[in-house]
Amino acid sequence: MSDVTRALQDAFGTERLRCEAPLRELTTFKVGGPAQWLVETRGSDDVVRALRIAHDAGVPVVLLGGGSNVLVADSGVRALVIRPRGGAIVPVDTGHIRADAAMTINGLVRWTLTHGLAGIEEWAGTPGTVGGAVCGNAHFGGRLISELLSSVRLCTRQGVISEVEVSAMGFGYDRSRVQTTGEVLLSADFIVSPGDPVVLRATARRSLDYRKRTQPLHLPSAGCVFQNPVPEWDVVPQGIPWSAGALVDRAGLKGAALGGARVSPTHGNFIVNEGDATSSDIRGLIEQCRVAVREQFGVELREEIVYLGDFSDVTPDADGATL
Ligand SMILES: Cc1cc2nc3c(=O)[nH]c(=O)nc-3n(C[C@H](O)[C@H](O)[C@H](O)COP(=O)(O)OP(=O)(O)OC[C@H]3O[C@@H](n4cnc5c(N)ncnc54)[C@H](O)[C@@H]3O)c2cc1C
Repeated sequence: MSDVTRALQDAFGTERLRCEAPLRELTTFKVGGPAQWLVETRGSDDVVRALRIAHDAGVPVVLLGGGSNVLVADSGVRALVIRPRGGAIVPVDTGHIRADAAMTINGLVRWTLTHGLAGIEEWAGTPGTVGGAVCGNAHFGGRLISELLSSVRLCTRQGVISEVEVSAMGFGYDRSRVQTTGEVLLSADFIVSPGDPVVLRATARRSLDYRKRTQPLHLPSAGCVFQNPVPEWDVVPQGIPWSAGALVDRAGLKGAALGGARVSPTHGNFIVNEGDATSSDIRGLIEQCRVAVREQFGVELREEIVYLGDFSDVTPDADGATL
């Protein structure tokens, strides 16, 4: 047994540390290989302890929240995968609540509805956790989740904790500073105000209905694969919507398949796993969409989803799509 395995086992016990642990069921795409080590943490102290062990052993660390915005390589992830679980919400003052990174967004919405607090109800139906949502600055209905925050608690890879104001988080569309610093989100403070539970529930229901109408929720996916183009970086030809899904659609790739992966006929920015997709199928199809959009519209699509593991053996075949 390696030293790092022993240190992790001493800290978390054999039931919470798993070696070569399958990850596919922990992601919404339902694909991908195992984690070299997987630790399910319960609270910030556990996360900090796992980070320190990995740092001392020189082992890379990957955070996994709800697994709803990631594509795990077929070969898995050669790292310590930390999966925060459980989590709590506590009131900070009359206008703020603190949610642990492990808390699901849906759990957070439910809690605010029960407590008659407004601010987060529109996010009902967003898969994943507070950690993943803040890391990628999730968006819904033209708003960014960072707009709902006042501050967050972060931990460095060395295990040093700090309180960070939202203005120092480098938030932008699909962007936050933790994507480059490697810091780990421990908790986030959300701004809330008193609200009528009946009205809040109606708003939450509208969001859920909207998702049911517009997204292929019956098949595994990771939501939108690509970011929408933005005026800051992109030039979209006149008459074409500034939407990655519309670009994929107009490039003729809506409904295209590669192996068990298909560009959803319902939503051009969703790739769905029809049951037996591999991660390489999905990665190959992503590349086909990117090439088609680049060639036809001169727009370079950027991924919204995050790749975990090594994809260097995946050779995209731009001509291989079947309709
Ligand atoms: C059907 C469907 C609909 C979706 N709709 C939307 C939508 O409307 N808007 C939207 O923005 N997204 C949407 N998504 C994508 C996804 O739900 C969000 O991006 C979500 O916020 C990801 O959270 P997660 O916990 O699943 O993160 P994961 O997928 O587990 O991880 C995403 C990234 O965050 C990192 N991460 C996770 N936890 C932490 C942490 N504690 N500290 C630091 N880094 C961390 C991971 O390492 C990874 O890089 C959708 C996905 C699906 C499947």
